[in-house]
Amino acid sequence: MIAHNLGYPRIGSHRELKRACEQFWAKKITPQQLQEAGRQLRQANWLTQQQAGIALVPCNDFSFYDQVLDMSLTVGAIPKRFKPLLDEPTAYPLALYFAMARGYQQDGLDLKAMEMTKWFDTNYHYIVPEFSADQSFSLLSEKIFTEFDEARETLDTLPKPVLLGPVSYLLLGKEKEPGFDRLTLLDRLLPVYKQILGRLQQQGAEWVQFDEPCLSLDLTPHQQEAIASVYGQLRQQFPNLKLLLAAYFECYGANLNLALQLPVDALHLDLVRCPNQLADILTTDFVQRPTQLSLGVVDGRNIWINDLEKSLATVRQAVAALGADRILIAPSCSLLHVPCDLSTETAEAGLPSELNQWLAFARQKLDEVVTLVTLSQEPDNPQASALLVTNRAALQARRESNQINRPAVQQRLRQLSEQDARRASDFSQRQAIQHDRLRLPLFPTTTIGSFPQTDAVRANRAKFKKGEKTLAEYEAFIRSETEQAIRWQEDVGLDVLVHGEFERNDMVEYFGELLDGIAFSQNGWVQSYGSRCVKPPIIFGDVHRPEPMTVRWAQLAQSLTDKPVKGMLTGPVTILQWSFVRDDQPRRDTCLQLALAIHDEVVDLEAAGIGIIQIDEPALREGLPLRRENWDTYLNWAVMAFRVAASGVQDHTQIHTHMCYAEFNDIISAIADLDADVITIETSRSQMELLDAFARFAYPNEIGPGVYDIHSPSVPTVAEMVELLRQATQVLPARNLWVNPDCGLKTRRWPETTEALKNMVQAAQTARETI
Ligand code: GLN
Ligand code: ZN
Repeated sequence: MIAHNLGYPRIGSHRELKRACEQFWAKKITPQQLQEAGRQLRQANWLTQQQAGIALVPCNDFSFYDQVLDMSLTVGAIPKRFKPLLDEPTAYPLALYFAMARGYQQDGLDLKAMEMTKWFDTNYHYIVPEFSADQSFSLLSEKIFTEFDEARETLDTLPKPVLLGPVSYLLLGKEKEPGFDRLTLLDRLLPVYKQILGRLQQQGAEWVQFDEPCLSLDLTPHQQEAIASVYGQLRQQFPNLKLLLAAYFECYGANLNLALQLPVDALHLDLVRCPNQLADILTTDFVQRPTQLSLGVVDGRNIWINDLEKSLATVRQAVAALGADRILIAPSCSLLHVPCDLSTETAEAGLPSELNQWLAFARQKLDEVVTLVTLSQEPDNPQASALLVTNRAALQARRESNQINRPAVQQRLRQLSEQDARRASDFSQRQAIQHDRLRLPLFPTTTIGSFPQTDAVRANRAKFKKGEKTLAEYEAFIRSETEQAIRWQEDVGLDVLVHGEFERNDMVEYFGELLDGIAFSQNGWVQSYGSRCVKPPIIFGDVHRPEPMTVRWAQLAQSLTDKPVKGMLTGPVTILQWSFVRDDQPRRDTCLQLALAIHDEVVDLEAAGIGIIQIDEPALREGLPLRRENWDTYLNWAVMAFRVAASGVQDHTQIHTHMCYAEFNDIISAIADLDADVITIETSRSQMELLDAFARFAYPNEIGPGVYDIHSPSVPTVAEMVELLRQATQVLPARNLWVNPDCGLKTRRWPETTEALKNMVQAAQTARETI
């Protein structure tokens, strides 16, 4: 039985990679220094895994930016615009590489970065490969070979190179011109993969891991055939290399038969996401074939300790059917998605002391994998048995802890009914009541919530956190910023004002810190994209709102103006989606607990005289399961959670929601089911195209299609915004339209914000007069 790993976090336990990359981009270190930093990180990771007892250690899982981008460079899929940078004479063309990731504005060149998008259902983002009809491929980078040699020198055992498989690589990319299907490029791509395998074989590789995560998606017969053909060919040409095929984040589902028939040496199963898969496989004739199974029993997507006893039972079931020598044990997926090492958390950190014993980061997960192998082979091993005892006790403590169990919250959840998720009257009645009360003009103007987070705002917060400023000083500063923002919005002439969110570091962290049942690690960073890391909150227990969270600030802002001030909250689905979520109850239940906490806040805001309340849900779409057959179940509870949060108020209180750039076509009926009085969305970049989904559906409620893109500092003209509004009125009734930027303004600076919003107010005025 082999302990192995699919991939290890590359950022370093103190975000060394981030620092090195950013210094390199700022020209503070040389390419050689950056390469050296990378080499040291790889080395440390390999040794860590070896010392933990992992027998088959991955290599080529390191990346300076992203593993999909690495693949594009390896197979020479360089978009034409980057050709001027192609001749850099190094084995790892850094300038080209980072230009593809981040764009290149130098030496008279202005090259746009490649697109970035989410990696399956994670918060990791990869660089989307770009393909043209005349696309050719050639082996361009030595990275994989260099890293194999390095790993081989470092380790006592042969490393296992990891490659993104050719079918997933193509499917993750995009055709950059019409008229061809990227999968037809396979015939041109495969020779490069064969070249890679040939070289690795020469270098002495024994195992090679092919990641084909597209097997976790719904595939067409054509795509399935492509997979079968690829691995058939590779098998034929490399009979002596051991091929491990890995998919994760879902069941193989309808692709299971295909996966089981593939002529590979080992097949990896994500048994955390899909525990039943094993039993299904053991009833097929797979049992009679020699293929090995890699059991992904340790959760690579979450930070909870493994239930070793339960995993052992799974392993024993597989051993009984296949024999121990056909089994590998692993995390469910690459450990890229969890923080590096729990032992860097210090005692005085934010984590409640009890919580620590329930957590396992990447480093700790290696121990779990190795312990499972040991216990399966020598049940009486004293060290491993002791770990089992500790594990059992920790799990028991977790089940019983009163930090986790809040009977009152559980009781409330049980009593939740459809009624709690329904406003008193239908939208049409509410709309009349709200229009009567708010008396806003046609095309009312507003913003999405945040205003520029200036250096002063950030510095003030940092000083407060470090204890260099008292709470009173800190709050006095926030008060004065809020006051200025109110005066400024009045000057600009906006109709519905906001308080500006100056007291918030981040839209989820702010609420996470104020809610019971949610904790923050000190050092639990996870790569989001490139050098950007996030530290997701840890939802560990029943969620409870000990006291109002935003009422003071909203009330302060409202007291300063006669115009309506919109209260500003983050919705339950978004808090859930951007956190590590407890695994001891369904996600749905955790989401509804969050919804109850937000519900209470909404009710308190209304009681404090706030007549308009926005509940942001930018992550609603992100939560969609990978397979369509599971969409409805998710959307049902996600929509229910939003409605629970929003439904405690009277008809005259107007509920807004905001969603960032998203495809709405296929979820439009769920969006309508949210029944928000007003939804603001990002549409300016698509020239209102995104509104078509709402128009086709005859979306009944009010809607604010963003009329300008806040992601760039350029100031939109009045004319272009009037034109967008005119386009909007062609598909939706004018009385339902709002005028607003397409997202929050916290990343902008004040000068361009002032100009842009003045133009926006002017555009609304023009629209009222001319449309
Ligand atoms: N209210 C938030 C803001 O304005 C919304 C941010 C978002 O949509 N991501 O910053
Ligand atoms: Zn947004």
